[in-house]
Amino acid sequence: MSIKDKPQAPRSRQIANILFLLAGLFFLANLLLPNLFSPQIPRVPYSLFIEQVEDGQVSRAYVGQEQIRYQLKGEDDQPGQVLATNPIFDLELPKKLENKGVEFAAAPPPKKSWFSSLLGWVIPPLIFVAIWQFFIGRGMGGGPQGALSISKSKAKVYVEDESTKTTFANVAGVEEAKTELVEIVEFLKSPQRYTNIGARIPKGVLLVGPPGTGKTLLAKAVAGEAGVPFFSISGSEFVELFVGAGAARVRDLFEQAKKKAPCIIFIDELDAIGKSRASGGFVGGNDEREQTLNQLLTEMDGFAAGDATVIVLAATNRPESLDSALLRPGRFDRQVLVDRPDLSGRLAILEIYAQKVKLGSDVDLKAIATRTPGFAGADLANLVNEAALLAARNRQETVSQADFAEAIERVVAGLEKKSRVLSDKEKKIVAYHEVGHALVGALMPGGSDVAKISIVPRGMAALGYTLQLPTEDRFLLNEDELRGQIATLLGGRSAEEVVFGSITTGASNDLQRATDLAEQMVTTYGMSKVLGPLAYEKGQQNNFLGNSMAMNPRRMVSDETAKAIDDEVKGIVETAHQQALDILKQNRDLLEKIAQQILETEVIEGEELQQLLNQVQSVVA
Ligand code: ADP
Repeated sequence: MSIKDKPQAPRSRQIANILFLLAGLFFLANLLLPNLFSPQIPRVPYSLFIEQVEDGQVSRAYVGQEQIRYQLKGEDDQPGQVLATNPIFDLELPKKLENKGVEFAAAPPPKKSWFSSLLGWVIPPLIFVAIWQFFIGRGMGGGPQGALSISKSKAKVYVEDESTKTTFANVAGVEEAKTELVEIVEFLKSPQRYTNIGARIPKGVLLVGPPGTGKTLLAKAVAGEAGVPFFSISGSEFVELFVGAGAARVRDLFEQAKKKAPCIIFIDELDAIGKSRASGGFVGGNDEREQTLNQLLTEMDGFAAGDATVIVLAATNRPESLDSALLRPGRFDRQVLVDRPDLSGRLAILEIYAQKVKLGSDVDLKAIATRTPGFAGADLANLVNEAALLAARNRQETVSQADFAEAIERVVAGLEKKSRVLSDKEKKIVAYHEVGHALVGALMPGGSDVAKISIVPRGMAALGYTLQLPTEDRFLLNEDELRGQIATLLGGRSAEEVVFGSITTGASNDLQRATDLAEQMVTTYGMSKVLGPLAYEKGQQNNFLGNSMAMNPRRMVSDETAKAIDDEVKGIVETAHQQALDILKQNRDLLEKIAQQILETEVIEGEELQQLLNQVQSVVA
């Protein structure tokens, strides 16, 4: 369905071919003509020549470096025969000739034919022209990129036919974005309706959102719905080693697009070229990007009303880092948020991709959607595929709910690593550690359930894991829930302390996350009574000109405040730690029971786990 724009054989190339042919003809002529027009002189061996001289048969001789031409004495007033021989190094020759009274002279240097002189001038430039044409031709013809093709845009052109085209039906879970873009489709379909009344058609739409949420897909769908060609290029492809190449590419891209108008240009990763010029910070080195950006701005300003309808859609996940010149009216003045889908969105996306695989009767897409908050469209598409791969690997006819559960786990926790062998002692520590997380997690608020405990190593670093799956989408968390999360994170280490009285290195990642959370509570969410509702973390800031400035992670604070922040963070973590210790001490028997069980089975989940966790007792204060 995608075709690459193939230019016709360039005119300059045809000219080069003709020049080449002419050069060949000249060359041949030069080889043949002198021989055609000059009569052949018979050649004789040098010895015969000397003999003839000695015999006094030679009347005159022209001695040259490459040949000696001589004439025999004629009879009866007839001129004698002319002969030639190749000279050898013979110092005696002049003497011999003189003795025999031969009239002799040095031969004039061989006359260069005008052809060869001409060719000396004509051929070398022709060779250069031919090589140049060769490279240009390769660069344009879509073959391997030639060295001189850097100024050509690498945009891919998609002209989709009816059967394969992407439409809004292929995109789900981003309803607001779709509503915005329907209007763009209208602009592309009937621009006159808007221009007649004097309205200006927007030139640029910025799709803002995290990776994999379907920005490219949406842009394709707009093109598909409007039935117009679609040029796709990534911002990073503009940036080249050579200063000026990016700008030339932008120019070329817009030229191509205008020829195919109405059409859509889609620039992925706009931030690669559109980063705020003020935030650069470094001196030099940004010239190339800046020139490319300027060219893009010029091109967008260039197509005026009534001109061909070219709409530029661009995607970025960091709109705040874009240069404000890009965002002002007349350029990317519309911003469409393409966010991660919510529950119903995820369900809709799963439904799209589930159509492509054979589902078992037990599959509950709603349950899968519930368990995958934070998954973007691309993750969900990948999830369905993973599940189908698992089913195929197990030689099943259809994909079952269990395949989906395993696929979610793979995405969340990484691949199982059965090859990582733990010693019995280590296994025991991992078991108590994970059960510690589970017991604390089961008591803490926060809207997620402990769904599985496993001591099968997974992913890069996890030796075991406790899977907590949310029961609902959460957009706000309160202070208690955050404290609960910190306590759950510390549950593993606390269990090691309670059971073994010592601690291992296994908890470092938990501690990192717990400390980060505590710090955010204090510096970002203003949840500390001591420090009050102030943001100590610096967000993105704009200076008085509206340009965003380089960020400084923490506001300038006095030494006392810095110390107070440290104390508060430490306080939160320590309180949570104590909470976890208390819970585990209270439930020491249960901790023992579950840990022993998991050492045998390696995994506990489902109903069995719920029954065990229901026995957890909260600490009576
Ligand atoms: P982005 O450009 O935002 O990084 P893409 O559009 O390239 O994301 O998405 C990658 C793939 O993920 C798409 O080709 C599509 O298969 C799938 N996908 C992402 N979001 C959605 C969605 N909202 N609906 C359907 N499929 C989606």
